[in-house]
Amino acid sequence: MTNPRRICLLPGDGIGPEITVEAVKVLDAIGALNDVTFSYDEALLGGIAIDATGSPLPDATLDAARAADAVLLAAIGGPKWDTTDPDKPRPEQGLLGIRKALGLFANLRPVKLFPALVGASSLKPEHLEGVDMLIVRELTGGIYFGERGRERDVPGAGADGGSGMRAYDTEVYAEYEIERIARIAFDAARTRRNKVHSVDKANVLESSRLWREVVHRVHDAEYSDVELVDQLVDNSAMQLVRWPAQFDVMVTGNIFGDILSDEASMLTGSLGMLASASLGDGTALYEPSHGSAPDIAGQGVANPLAMLLSVELMLRHSFEMHGAADTLSTAIENVLAEGWRTRDIADEGTPADRLVGTSEMGDLVVTQL
Ligand code: NAD
Repeated sequence: MTNPRRICLLPGDGIGPEITVEAVKVLDAIGALNDVTFSYDEALLGGIAIDATGSPLPDATLDAARAADAVLLAAIGGPKWDTTDPDKPRPEQGLLGIRKALGLFANLRPVKLFPALVGASSLKPEHLEGVDMLIVRELTGGIYFGERGRERDVPGAGADGGSGMRAYDTEVYAEYEIERIARIAFDAARTRRNKVHSVDKANVLESSRLWREVVHRVHDAEYSDVELVDQLVDNSAMQLVRWPAQFDVMVTGNIFGDILSDEASMLTGSLGMLASASLGDGTALYEPSHGSAPDIAGQGVANPLAMLLSVELMLRHSFEMHGAADTLSTAIENVLAEGWRTRDIADEGTPADRLVGTSEMGDLVVTQL
């Protein structure tokens, strides 16, 4: 046996704990097959952490994450903790906080269509042929971290034309942030189909004009062998549903990447199928792209596959277990090819005896492994 690979588990809220159980089940099976031990350190993040400690990101969680070889996060948030009061803690602060604290500046979201799921996508099959892209989203800059605030008693801001409240958020990007994310995208493109779409809003936003300038500077100096295409974000939103196969690597800022990757997830049939890796200079974090799905939490029907695909990314990027990652990917593909479906990826053609819950889906993947 080699040294244990230490994984910090952050099950979070809603369906998070349910899909985490399946991840551990699958990791244990992979460990046994590969003579590797995974050890788990579970910590609190999000709403459950607010309830237990008052903070969405307790210090103990950050310590556990830093001490681990990789972090596996399920999902956080839910109506219980929704608030518009800026002084109250919110689960999302935990997520943004841990990304920032671990220096995770690059979020990689592969969007690959499993052939068996063509029917589950909201697009017609002919639009889906060849979909295999990687969205590289900048994670620690942009409007989510720029200066924000509220101003009271601003003349003219009131609904009645009198004074009222005004709120603002600021999109800010520094050259170094754009440079390092551009490099991640160009490096990834070189291992794929050698093409990068850089998505911005340079016709309107100054921060986007700097984005475009820096991406081109990095490209021309270091990556002139990679094809670079500039695209405005509104056009990208349209192109993703018109002709998604044109994309190989898409690199974009924090908020555009957040929105476009959810849109792209529907190409794969469900948000329940999209995984992500967040990389920085230290411990990496892996998480499904979906949220805590409070509408189905506790019912045992959540799709665990995005979580399992996040495990696949972890095996590749943190543990360099490429063979095991390939095996897991094939196992998932086979389970889908045999027709097994959770509710979110089922269609009218799915027979009732192929409809399974969260735990059965995990078992099927383990059996395939
Ligand atoms: P959501 O992703 O939780 O759910 C959107 C829809 O997709 C729901 O109908 C849900 O049932 C379905 N869905 C999502 N994941 C699924 C899965 N694995 N299997 C089957 N169906 C699935 O997004 P939302 O409803 O906008 O947000 C719910 C909560 O999650 C909010 O509190 C939000 O802030 C939080 N959230 C957290 C993250 C995160 O933890 N990274 C990301 C997005 C939203």
